[in-house]
Amino acid sequence: MSECLFCQIASKQIPAKIHFENDDFVAFEDINPKAIVHLLIVPKKHYDAMSSLKDKDTGMLGKLLNTARIVAEQEGIAQSGYRLVINSGKDSGMEVDHLHLQLLGGSQLNAIN
Ligand code: AMP
Repeated sequence: MSECLFCQIASKQIPAKIHFENDDFVAFEDINPKAIVHLLIVPKKHYDAMSSLKDKDTGMLGKLLNTARIVAEQEGIAQSGYRLVINSGKDSGMEVDHLHLQLLGGSQLNAIN
């Protein structure tokens, strides 16, 4: 059994509040939400981080972004706006070493620049 937390959530070995799922990705609520809508969109296949991807993973990355667009529509925040975040590596503060895209929205977010 994989010890990766998000692999275990993706394979339903660990429960999560899943909002969306297709063949390649699962989107579930962040356990410690930083916004009214805070979902994690996770590839079912394990990738450590952005920094471990190869050129051949370009298609998966495109699908990941497109899934975020679909999930934002589903959550009703496409028009009001949202933020997509991908942490990668130590300096980003990445805590879970499984590539994930954070979808945040539902109210005005604090500026990051
Ligand atoms: P990152 O800092 O990019 O690695 O983000 C990891 C995110 O996963 C954090 O926002 C955590 O709150 C979230 N998280 C950690 N454990 C769980 C869990 N069991 N279910 C849902 N979200 C989690």
